[in-house]
Amino acid sequence: MSISSSRGKSRIVMHVDLDYFYAQCEELRRNDLKDRPVVVCVYSARGGDSGAVSTCNYKARAYGVKAGMPIVQAKRLLREQDAVFLPVDEQYYTSVSDMVMAILRANADAFEQVSIDEAYMDVSMRCKDFDDATRLASRLKDEVRTSVGLTCSIGIGMNKLIAKMASDYRKPDGLTVVRPEDAKDFISRMSVGKLLWVGKKTEATLNSMGIYTVADLAKVSIDTLIKEFGRKMGIYLYNASRGIDEEPVKESAMAKQISRITTLKRNTSAIEDMLDDLNTLSMDVHKSLVEQGLLFRSVGIMLVYEDLSMRSRARMLKHYSNSMDDIARYARVLLEEALEESSKPVRRLGVKVSDLVSVKGQETLQRFM
Ligand SMILES: [Mg+2]
Repeated sequence: MSISSSRGKSRIVMHVDLDYFYAQCEELRRNDLKDRPVVVCVYSARGGDSGAVSTCNYKARAYGVKAGMPIVQAKRLLREQDAVFLPVDEQYYTSVSDMVMAILRANADAFEQVSIDEAYMDVSMRCKDFDDATRLASRLKDEVRTSVGLTCSIGIGMNKLIAKMASDYRKPDGLTVVRPEDAKDFISRMSVGKLLWVGKKTEATLNSMGIYTVADLAKVSIDTLIKEFGRKMGIYLYNASRGIDEEPVKESAMAKQISRITTLKRNTSAIEDMLDDLNTLSMDVHKSLVEQGLLFRSVGIMLVYEDLSMRSRARMLKHYSNSMDDIARYARVLLEEALEESSKPVRRLGVKVSDLVSVKGQETLQRFM
C-alpha cells in the first residue's frame, strides 16, 4: 500500500538513529562508565590489541578516537585518560535494540528497521502535519529515554533522504525538523558527502569535478551525471540534489519477531500487579500475529528493572502455534521464573514471539513435524 497516494500531499518520514549505540549500551549497564571515554572494539583473531574501534562515546571522540581506527591508535590517544576498552557484545545490543524498535514500530504507519540502531518511520497517516510529527518525535525520544535509558537523534522530512540527513544534522540527542518548503535550502548547504549513498569514492570523484556542495551538484546536468556515474546513480544524484526521493518506507516482508512493551503503573516485583499488563501485551502481540498471518515457535518476555538493567527469557515450543493461550501461558511461566531469580522491582514489561513462519507455509511444515 502506498501511503503517499492515500494522502495526496507530502509524506512525513522520520529517521531515528540511536546515539553512539554500542558504547551507549555499555554505559547503560555500567554506571561507572558514565564520565569516562568508552571504546567498543572488534578484536581480531590475532589477539592482543589488534583490531579496530567499532563505536565510541563522545568523551572518547573528544580525543580524536573514531570508528574504524586501530585499537592501538585509540589507546595511544587515550593513554592519559581513564578510558575503558570493551569487546562488542552483539547479543546484548540486540536485546536493547529490540526494545527500542518495539516502541518505534508501535508508533509508525510503516516501519523499516535498517540496522541495529537505525529505522525509518512513515507517520503520514497518524500525523496531520509536521507540527504533529514533531510532537510525536519528542514523545518517542522521552519514551526511549525513560523506558530503555538511551538517547537517540531523530530527523523529520518529506522523504527518507531528507529525514536521514536531518537526524545526522544534530547529534547526540537531536531533533531536527525539515519542512518541505525548507528542504531544498537545508540540503543545498551540505557537502555532497553527506548525501545518502554517497560514499568516499563518489565524493572524491565529485570533488575532482569541482562539486563540493549539494548546491554545486544541483547545477550539473543529468547527462553529465549519468555519463560519470552510470544511469542509476546519475539519476539518483540528480534527484537527491533537489531533495527528491520517492523511496517508500518498506515494511519488512516478514517481521523477525513481534513484540510489545509497556511501562507498569508502578515499579513492582509482585506478579499479581503485572498480570493485567501481561495479558494485554499478549493480546496485542497475538492480534498483530494474526493480522500478518504468522505462526510462532518461541515466546519470550523482557523485563526492565527499576535500575534500568534488563533481562529477557524465551522458550521454544515443540510446534508452531498461533494460539493466544500459548502466548499468555508461556509468558506467565517465564515471568514467574524471572521473578524467582531476581526480586528487583520491575519498571517495564514486554512480551514477544519469534521464530515466525507465515501461515501459507504451514501445510508444508506440518508434513515435516
Ligand atoms: Mg547510530
